[in-house]
Amino acid sequence: MQKKILGHFGRLFTALVILSLVAIWAIFAGISYDAYRGQWIAASLVANNITILLERDIARNIELYDLSLKAVVKGLDDPKIMALPEDLRRAVLFDSSAMASGLGSILVIDPKGAITMDSRSDHPSAVNLADRDYFSVHRDEQTKDELFVSHPFQSRIYAQEWSIGLSRRVNNADGSFAGVVVGTVRLSYILSLFRDVRLPPDSSVTLFDRRGNVIVRSPFDAAVIGQEAGSATEFKRQGTWSGEFTRDSSFDGIRRLFVYRQVGSLPIVQSVGLSVDRFLGELQARVAGLAVAFLLLSGLIVVLGTSLRKELRNRTAAEVALGQLAATDALTEVANRRRFDEVLIIEWRRSVRSEADLSLLMIDCDLFKAFNDANGHLGGDAALRAVAGAIKASISRPGDLAARYGGEEFAVLLPTTGLSGATVVAEAIRTRVLALNIPHLKSPFHRVTVSIGVACRHPGGDDEPRMLIEAADRALYAAKAQGRNVVALADAPSGLSSGTDPHRRRSGAATA
Ligand code: GH3
Ligand code: MG
Ligand code: MG
Repeated sequence: MQKKILGHFGRLFTALVILSLVAIWAIFAGISYDAYRGQWIAASLVANNITILLERDIARNIELYDLSLKAVVKGLDDPKIMALPEDLRRAVLFDSSAMASGLGSILVIDPKGAITMDSRSDHPSAVNLADRDYFSVHRDEQTKDELFVSHPFQSRIYAQEWSIGLSRRVNNADGSFAGVVVGTVRLSYILSLFRDVRLPPDSSVTLFDRRGNVIVRSPFDAAVIGQEAGSATEFKRQGTWSGEFTRDSSFDGIRRLFVYRQVGSLPIVQSVGLSVDRFLGELQARVAGLAVAFLLLSGLIVVLGTSLRKELRNRTAAEVALGQLAATDALTEVANRRRFDEVLIIEWRRSVRSEADLSLLMIDCDLFKAFNDANGHLGGDAALRAVAGAIKASISRPGDLAARYGGEEFAVLLPTTGLSGATVVAEAIRTRVLALNIPHLKSPFHRVTVSIGVACRHPGGDDEPRMLIEAADRALYAAKAQGRNVVALADAPSGLSSGTDPHRRRSGAATA
């Protein structure tokens, strides 16, 4: 019983501790997840805004430049303009807007690749440009009437400066190839646009062509120009020209959140990458701090829970022990009279409810006054303890109760046990006491013996507990009358006796 209660407490406490631990770590996970998500969304927003800003800036620059190219193509087709003296013709053909600082010259190239006009010089360079991709594309793809963005190249005219060409095809009246108009944009100019935007540390800004090859990347590294970026696989996988993804940079290994976007309607893509470590770093430190705090809290819960559980265990154990003490006879360690009275009422009611038998044994030590006189009170006490032990050893069911009724008398309550079953128990007690072999010189049996009165409450009887005690008592007196060391039955017309013990007598006919 005590173990059961304590076990129950133990499990309840362990469950409570585990539940609190789960709860606080769930809170920790929730807080961290929210913080991470918030930071991620903020970073994505920043990257998107920067991307849009740069994309628009570059698109506007290129579109303006394209307007100039278109004007040149149109002008070349105009005989009136072409008839003008050379310096005037150049002034008309090459709009001043195309002279912006980052832009190189606009060149008119003939079908052989030779430069026929240069927006910035009266004397065009003698280099041949037939091998440039912008030249061959326009020459070979007649139908193309759109702006071409070339691969990055090192200028043959401007000190090997890295540039890209923006070009349009010039047609003869019959549609045949008449050459190319190309404007160059220095990569340093694009980089200067990138630099205008203030970016967090370890960020990268890249302009790709549609194949995913780098046109220019900041931080600048000439070695990566024209190289296929790892991000290209992401563009291709996502299949769209704007989006975002996270990956380790194929150039410097830094993990970045990349946001990319097509530049206007041009075949180029602008991407901004923010270092994940940079925008999550501070948060990671905060979350780590929080984790330590939660860890300490968990430890505290475990320590407090354990000590509280121990305290409660001790207290419960003490209470249970106290309760047992209050219900136990100090000398013989069987239930005391108070406990017996309580249990008798409980079992009586149960027996009435369930219409089950309830038996009672009244056990009295024979000629005990004489035993006391001969052996002293302490000797008597020891004998009483031995008799109680014999009684306890003779009952086995969980509901059975052995109690000291008073003085040298004991009572045994046997729920759901009929008269015959109770008699068997009574016989077992009588013989066990006899087998103790405690010398008793004043007894005709020369040993300590007990007489036992057995009574049983039959189902359906409208009697009360007191009557069961009286019946058992009467049977006990009958047993005494029969010479002691006898089991006598109440409610049995001619009593009952069996077995081989020569000292056993038939019982009187007491009735419950
Ligand atoms: P009977 O066979 O008729 O029962 O004779 P008896 O002497 O046992 O009956 P009686 O009621 O005259 O005496 C009971 C004696 O039991 C009285 C007392 O000396 C002894 N006794 C009662 N309680 C205790 C106890 O707690 N310790 C000891 N040592 N003796 C006790
Ligand atoms: Mg007595
Ligand atoms: Mg007695």
